[in-house]
Amino acid sequence: MENERNAGSLHDKHRHLFKRYIAQASEYPPFTLDAARAEGVYLWDTDGKRYIDFISSICVNNIGHRHPAVMRALEAQMQRYLHVMVYGEFIQQPQLDLAEALCAVLPPQLQKVFFLNSGSEAIEGAIKLARLKNHRSEIISFAHSYHGSTTGAMSLLGEEAIRSVFKPLLPEHRQLPYNDLAALSQITDKTCCVVAEVIQSGGGVVEGTDAFLQALRRRCDETGALLIYDEIQTGFGRSGQWFAFEKSGAVPDVLCMAKGMGGGMPIGAFVASEELMELLNNEHPLLGHASTFGGHPLSCVAALASLQVIASDGVLPQVRAKEQRIREHIAQIPAVEELRGRGLFLGAKMKDAATAQQVVEHCLQNGLIVFWPLFNKEVVDFTPPLTITNDEIDEAMAIFRRSVEEVCA
Ligand code: PMP
Repeated sequence: MENERNAGSLHDKHRHLFKRYIAQASEYPPFTLDAARAEGVYLWDTDGKRYIDFISSICVNNIGHRHPAVMRALEAQMQRYLHVMVYGEFIQQPQLDLAEALCAVLPPQLQKVFFLNSGSEAIEGAIKLARLKNHRSEIISFAHSYHGSTTGAMSLLGEEAIRSVFKPLLPEHRQLPYNDLAALSQITDKTCCVVAEVIQSGGGVVEGTDAFLQALRRRCDETGALLIYDEIQTGFGRSGQWFAFEKSGAVPDVLCMAKGMGGGMPIGAFVASEELMELLNNEHPLLGHASTFGGHPLSCVAALASLQVIASDGVLPQVRAKEQRIREHIAQIPAVEELRGRGLFLGAKMKDAATAQQVVEHCLQNGLIVFWPLFNKEVVDFTPPLTITNDEIDEAMAIFRRSVEEVCA
């Protein structure tokens, strides 16, 4: 084995170790892109090849890789402390500053934050909060949705063939078609909560219509079911607004976030009203919810720095203009049947899954990282950093066009 390890390039050695030690959980052969360093929209592999990261590591690096403001905040916090006791006993200024800044961009109904490490954990916390609110058991989610890989979040998965492998999951789960107003009558006074993405990601970048999201809000009000939005991909400026729900004006009872929140560091949260969050404290004998590393100070300072960059550098107002620029490029590529989504949360629909797969592979060879939505392989996702420049968009689109031409020639 030692001989094998020492054979070939650094990439060869890494590939060997990767296959030998790192568990894989996807049917797709790994890209094995061997990341060496990253800066802004660019990523380099161990062979020195440069790629444009046009998916922001799946909606994580919303202000690019290693943004200087994030790096400065991390370095300063490293001089102070890393982890200290949680469970409410210790006050940590990084959490206070972040929660205050976050609530300043959220509506008055969403003003109390529970920090965690990931999106799945945020969904788990939100479900528990809903249980404490109405003590009902039925949970509703939508076809083609993805809310995470923990057992509870997995129970909501909108693809029966995938979720059923892990049964038994959370009981009394019901799945409704997305964007179907008539189906909302199935939300009743037996429903504990409804979990929805405002723009479905795994389903192939499908926007919830304003009419659907508003009717969903009304139905939850009528029945007393809690409305939980999963903005784990769409949050933090992706849609051109802080959160995609702002467009319809229908505010959820609980908002789940992660990914783009942390400027590249792991963090997630669910946010609700003070009244709802009080239930975590009052409605149980000991511990409503807890996370040892949730709201880690390094993640919180990085998240605050990222939030401030999105807030201050004219980033948000430029998102729709950048979308427009991408749309103009795509209009020149007839093989793209439709460009779905809004802001910098876009999906290029190709003829079929085989074409999309080849396009993704050719893009990678040509130095552009794009990817497929989890369940809809006819679509190629574009979710570049919000801070991408026009020149970088043009560069990425030239590579995309060339790759499509190679595949569809
Ligand atoms: N919800 C959505 C919409 C997601 O895209 C993801 C992650 N891909 C999650 C939830 C789960 O987040 P995490 O992987 O951080 O647990």
